[in-house]
Amino acid sequence: MTVRVRFAPSPTGYLHLGGARTALYNWLFAKANKGKFVLRIEDTDRTRSTDEAIGSIIKSLSRLGLNWDEGPDVDGDFGPYRQTERLNLYKEAAEKLLNEGKAYFCYCLPEELEKRRKEALKEGASPKYNGRCRNLAEEERGLLEKEGRKPVIRFKVVQDGSIRVNDIIRGEINFENKFLDDLIIVRTDGTPTYNFAAVIDDAMMKITHIIRGDDHLSNTPRQILIYEALGYPLPVFAHLPLIFGSDKTPLSKRHADVAIDEYFKKGYLPEVLINYLALLGWSYDEKTTIFSLNELIEKFSLGKVTKSPAIFDLAKLEWMNGYYIRQLDVDELTDMVLPFLEEAGFKIDIPRGNLKKIIALIQERIKCLKEVVGLTDFFFKDLIEFDQGAVEKMFKKSEAMSILETAEKKLLSLSDFNVNEIELVLRKIPEELNLKPKQVFQTIRVAVAGKLISPPLFETIELLGQEKSAERIKRAKEMIN
Ligand code: GLU
Repeated sequence: MTVRVRFAPSPTGYLHLGGARTALYNWLFAKANKGKFVLRIEDTDRTRSTDEAIGSIIKSLSRLGLNWDEGPDVDGDFGPYRQTERLNLYKEAAEKLLNEGKAYFCYCLPEELEKRRKEALKEGASPKYNGRCRNLAEEERGLLEKEGRKPVIRFKVVQDGSIRVNDIIRGEINFENKFLDDLIIVRTDGTPTYNFAAVIDDAMMKITHIIRGDDHLSNTPRQILIYEALGYPLPVFAHLPLIFGSDKTPLSKRHADVAIDEYFKKGYLPEVLINYLALLGWSYDEKTTIFSLNELIEKFSLGKVTKSPAIFDLAKLEWMNGYYIRQLDVDELTDMVLPFLEEAGFKIDIPRGNLKKIIALIQERIKCLKEVVGLTDFFFKDLIEFDQGAVEKMFKKSEAMSILETAEKKLLSLSDFNVNEIELVLRKIPEELNLKPKQVFQTIRVAVAGKLISPPLFETIELLGQEKSAERIKRAKEMIN
């Protein structure tokens, strides 16, 4: 048997952390088992699906490197891979169920259903569909049609017995049929609902393992009934734990960004997102945190996925990104940060060698690539903006002027403008002026960088160059005056 798994997003928005983790676990499982990973777009809910979302999900998955063997843009034996292109298949299956008496037309209007639901709840009864249209006679149907009512198709759930779900992660779970609704499988507009289309697709696409979020666990017994009604063999199920924020409520925008794309925009590396997401619900030995993709393929198993919710920890993700960034070769890192600098509108007209030196200065300090912008902006701007707090703190002191004057003179006196010489002359100032080194260097830092936090000062001055450094100090002096 060839392992076949799928990721089946509903394109109603961007790819979020939970979706990406589901895709990753499926992908890893496929790789580990030399199986196939299928991408299927579940877009039958036409009011909520958009082409834009499809494009954005595909882009995020591709950036993560989670490539698929079959999908909307990759031909395979079981296509098409977009549900709106498979409507005839669902129609056929629905007709089959109708003919066999396993499904029926239901004419109840949404407002009637809502009213009944509320009444049932008030009486302490089950709010599920009461089966009013289950056994309609032909004439009754005719009358309802005449009223202009458009029916949905409901699946007839046998009311006794129970369904056993054998989940790789959750173990055995029993669902009693009597709690299940006669679920809608085809909407009034003729489109199939998720539970129906997913079963038909999973069966026809020969999906062997369904790996998805815990939020779908309650759909599983319903889907099993549909598999059985259509005579399809059952796949294996594996429901992944939910992802929570630090306060143990489901992860949402309140806790952190949830869109994968936001993390790319901030400069999280794809390898880091993969590494971090892999650990969100799975662990190898409870202590190893850094895994390359190949190590994950080798070590990942569904048996080690946890049952309890995974807690999303932004600080750990940031730490991991910083760790990966520090491992990069400066050349590589320079290539990676260039798009961020360009996006910030900086004119990068300095030689590549100098750019690399600048990047090397901040490599140890950044946790995500975008931080480079705030840390290096003053290198690329002709006129820097001064941070108001920094100006208040350093330039309002009476010694500021003499510090800057001395520094300017010393820097201009250098015939060889390199970091050693710069350090040598500037380190003399505290003693000469009888001031603390910190006050001296912070004052100079604000003058050349505009802020109190910058890469190391002497290197920064070297890279700015003699002329530019002196010019900035001069401007700072004018400002003080
Ligand atoms: N379209 C469903 C979703 O995005 C897929 C669920 C499943 O994997 O069966 O939640």
